[in-house]
Formats: sequence, structure tokens, C-alpha cells
Amino acid sequence: MDNTAPSFSRNVHILKSSVNKQAIYGLLISVMAIILATLINCYMVEGNISLTGMYHVQQEQPALWILDALPFIFLFWGQHVGSLLVYEASALILDQTVELHSLTTSLEQRVMHETTHDNLTNLPNRLLLHDRIEQAINTASRHKYTIGLAIIDLDRFKEINDTLGHFAGDRLLKQVAMRLLGVVRKDETLARMGGDEFAILMTQVNDTNSPLSFYQRIRRAMDTPFTVENITLDVQASMGVSLYPQHGNDVDTLIQRAEVAMYAAKQQKNNGYAIYTSKLDRYSPKRLTLISELKQAIQNDELVLYYQPKVDLKNKKISKAEALVRWKHPTHGLLQPDEFINLAERTGLIIELSHWVLKTSIQQILHWQQKGLSINVAVNLSPSSLLSPELPEIITGILSSHNLRGSMLTVELTETSIIKDPELAYEILNRLKALGVDISIDDFGTGYSSLAQLRKLPVSEMKIDRSFVMDMLENKDDEIIVKSIIDLAHNLGLSVVAEGVETLGCARKLEQMDCDLLQGYYFSRPIPADKFEEWHASFSFT
Ligand code: C2E
Ligand code: CA
Ligand code: CA
Repeated sequence: MDNTAPSFSRNVHILKSSVNKQAIYGLLISVMAIILATLINCYMVEGNISLTGMYHVQQEQPALWILDALPFIFLFWGQHVGSLLVYEASALILDQTVELHSLTTSLEQRVMHETTHDNLTNLPNRLLLHDRIEQAINTASRHKYTIGLAIIDLDRFKEINDTLGHFAGDRLLKQVAMRLLGVVRKDETLARMGGDEFAILMTQVNDTNSPLSFYQRIRRAMDTPFTVENITLDVQASMGVSLYPQHGNDVDTLIQRAEVAMYAAKQQKNNGYAIYTSKLDRYSPKRLTLISELKQAIQNDELVLYYQPKVDLKNKKISKAEALVRWKHPTHGLLQPDEFINLAERTGLIIELSHWVLKTSIQQILHWQQKGLSINVAVNLSPSSLLSPELPEIITGILSSHNLRGSMLTVELTETSIIKDPELAYEILNRLKALGVDISIDDFGTGYSSLAQLRKLPVSEMKIDRSFVMDMLENKDDEIIVKSIIDLAHNLGLSVVAEGVETLGCARKLEQMDCDLLQGYYFSRPIPADKFEEWHASFSFT
């Protein structure tokens, strides 16, 4: 408040000059009144008006003397009181100005805090993070060290929000924020990017403070279940990391690449952690707009099914194929399922997608039947499509409307579908079995279910995950795993498919191991239906 004194004397000056102006008016009016009283008196005493008459009246009338003195008395008094009031008023104005100023400053600070912080968690927001990254880049470029940006996204948050409501969702986010705060160091910034997405700026990345060890700390922090409205929730998070200077020199690139890594971490079904590489670019969040287009794509028939044959080793014939979905996107070209299936799964669109796949596969089976080709088609069902209560009705509806036996259809499901809700899975699978539909366990060996658990289910086929099959010839352990799965499955009366057969050597080895069916690039990649017919006509394997 350096300008207090000048503004005070300025106020005094302004007020004083307006008081003075009024005093001069008063003085003029009083002088006029004196002149008028003197004139009237002169006329009444002398009978006419003259200067000598006026002089006499003034000399002889003491009442006029009082009148003469009044303007000066009032002028003096007015000036005195005026000055006092002027000082008082100026002091008052000044006080209020100071008060207003401090109010404005605290209001400015509050607005500043609100524009740079998230109001749910009170953590820095995107804007402030942007600033901090910029500063961190400047410092790091001078001192030549690496900084890391981690983007963290909660798994299954949408589900929680949808089922328990936004209020519960908000409370969970607050708890997550508190736990994450416990993990970050003083010099690191934890920010909320919006929704269930958080970011952590690691101002120095080195061997002791590596992104991976950081992620392990986060996982440990999230290990204890959360409690929201008396419900215990198990929540985990996926984390993607980009590094400066390796992955970008500016803030936007670093954020974008950390997000790409995060999406990849979420979709690759690995351990929920990924560091950016250019290979991951296909997981770009730009693709997220795909999800809004997917609904339309299903209706507009932009999806297509490719078919990959399963070679039957007993008769060296093709009587089965797997339907694998592709998306002919008008601008992105042909998209592979791993680019949109998980997104569909997360947004609930998977049910519509599965419905489309089932309908299209059954039309294909019928079309082939009309051409004299009997092919059992296997469709993949993700956990939420399998566990949707309307699934058996949908399948019954499609089969009966096309007058097709269920035995021409196989559903492939992963162990996760069963573990998620064993009782429901058991009930749904039994209803499918009753329709004659074959049930196949996909990617076997990667999950945690035991064969004993699977035995209770009406399963007829087991597909050994391609990761074991592909390395089988080089890796003795994989060979042992494949052999044991085949033997165990046979003991349980199940037929076995090996997927990922890429070489003749591998095919022969599996034949020796008594595997029932083979699927893999060695025979054919997944191909469109018309190509499949051509391929089928020229197929031979002895
Ligand atoms: P999956 O069910 O394990 O399908 C087999 C995948 O392995 C296919 O990838 C196929 O192209 C690939 N593959 C087959 N033979 C070989 C081989 O010899 N070597 C190698 N390296 N790979 C081989 P694709 O078509 O990209 O499908 C990936 C996954 O997407 C599928 O894995 C399945 O989980 C999912 N998916 C595909 N279509 C659908 C669908 O209609 N609905 C659902 N829910 N998921 C689908
Ligand atoms: Ca499959
Ligand atoms: Ca598989």
C-alpha cells in the first residue's frame, strides 16, 4: 500500500475544493442579503436610495452590524467543520479502499487456486501440471537428467460408477487420490487429469526411482481394498509412462505418449504397466473416438468376419473354423480386434457386437451349407457377453429363425469368463449345451483355473494358448506343458486344438503328441469368407 499517502492528500484536495466552492456561494448569498437589507433600510429611513443614505443606515443600525458579521462567522465555522469532515471522509474512503484491495487479492488467489486445482480431490489439475512439466523440462535440459510422466487410469471405474452411482464414484476417487499422494515424493506432482485419470510428474528418473518401481509402489498402495458405502471394492490401476527427452521434448507430446502407453497397458492384458514405444502408437487415444463410431459401424455393416480354419488331424479335413472380427474403417483402414474389442468391452457395446458376430456367423454357416460345405464356426465371446443373461435367448432366437442345429456352432470363451461368476457361467453354459452348441475354452494355460474346475462345466474343446505352441520346438518347458494339456484334456474326454501353428515342424510334433486339431498361420491366416472357400477347395495335408 505505498500509494496511501498521495491518494489520501488527493482525496482531501478534491473534497476541500468542493467545500470551498459551496462556501463561496454562501458568502455571495450573504453579501447579497446584506446589500438588500441595507437598501430596504435606507429606503424606509431616508425615503430614497443613495450611497450617503446607505452609509447612514449602516452607521446607525446595530442590527445590520450583526448581519454584516454573520457571513464571516459562518465562513470561518463552515471552513473549519468542512475541513474536519473532509479529513474524516478521506480517511473513511481510504480504509474502504484498503479493505476492498485485500478482498480483491484473496478473491484473485481463490480464483487462481480454483483454475489450477481439481475441486473434488484438491489436486493440481491439467493446467497446473502442464506448467510444472514445462518447468521440469527446462531444469532437466540444463542439468541433463531424465524426467518421467506417468498417466494412471483406474480399471473398471466405469462399472463402479454405473452400478454404485456418481456419489460413490466420487468418494472412491478421493480415496484413490489420498493413496496416490502417499506414494509420491515431495518433488513430484500428482495431478488429476479428469475422470478416473491421474498423472504423476517424476522430476528425476534414475535407477533407484525408476517408473517400474514407482508402479510397483502404486500397486501395493492399491492392494488393500477400498470401502465405499460399506461395500468393499477391489480397484487396480493401469499406468503408462513417457520419458523426457527420449519420447518427446514438449509437454503435449509427453502427455500424449504417456496416454498411448496407458491405453496399451490397459488393452494388452499384461501387467497393467507400459512404457512408451512407437510400436504402441496404434493404441493412440485418437482411436478412442472409434468407440463413438463403433455403434454406427455395427449398424452400417462396417464389420466383417474373417475365418481361420482348424485342421482336423484324424481325417486331415477342414470341418471347423474360427470367426475373427475385423472393422473396415472408412478412414483408418482394416482394424484388428485388439484395437477395438477391449474398448467395446469397456463401454458395453460388446453385447451388440457379439450379437452381430453370432448372426453373421450363422448366416455364413447356412450359406456354406447351401454350397455343400459343412463348417462348424466358432465365435469368441468375451466375459461380459457370455455372462449377459439374454445370451442363451439371443442364440436360441438366431438358431431357430434360421432353422439351424446348435451343433454347427461353437462358442470360445476364456477362463476369466468363468472365474468372474462361476455359478452364472455354469448356468448359461448348460443352457447353451442343451441347444447342442459346443463350448471351447480359449487361450488355455494362461489363466488360473484348474482343470478340475473346468470339468464341472459342459466343455467339449480346449484350445492351447498360442504362446506355448509357438515356442514349443525351442522351449522344452513349453513342449512339456503342451503335452500335459493334451493328455489331461483327453483324460477328461475333451478334444484339443493347438493354435499358433506356424511351421510344418510344429504341426508334425503336435500330430505325434496326438493333438486333435491344428490352427495357425502355417495352414492359413484368418481370411474373408470367399477366400476361405477357395482355400478350402485347394487344401491338402497328408
Ligand atoms: P483368439 O481368440 O486367441 O484368436 C486367435 C488369434 O490368433 C487371432 O488374432 C489370429 O489371427 C491369431 N493367430 C492365429 N494363428 C496364428 C499363428 O500361427 N501365429 C500367430 N502369431 N497368431 C495367430 P486376431 O484375429 O487378431 O484376434 C485377436 C483376439 O481378438 C482373439 O484372440 C480374440 O480374443 C479377439 N476376438 C477376435 N474376434 C472376436 C469377436 O468376434 N468377439 C470377441 N469377443 N473377441 C474377438
Ligand atoms: Ca478364439
Ligand atoms: Ca486363443
